[in-house]
Amino acid sequence: MIPLSHSLPYDILMQDVIAQECPYCRSSNVRLPLTPEEVRDMYGGARKRTIVFPCCQGTLRIIDADRDYLLANRAIR
Ligand SMILES: [Zn+2]
Repeated sequence: MIPLSHSLPYDILMQDVIAQECPYCRSSNVRLPLTPEEVRDMYGGARKRTIVFPCCQGTLRIIDADRDYLLANRAIR
């Protein structure tokens, strides 16, 4: 169960992973530097990864994921 305060909703579109909103600059539909396969590798906290948002270079440590959300290591909303 991913706590809402730490969750980043995302969608997969073809081979792109799209964040619905950047937690830093609030850009919408930001394409993340991740592949859908890399997201699946993080399910259940199996892998952790730091991502850099292309919109504003904000960095976020992702420590878990499920089919709808990425889980950050801190509150992002
Ligand atoms: Zn941004």
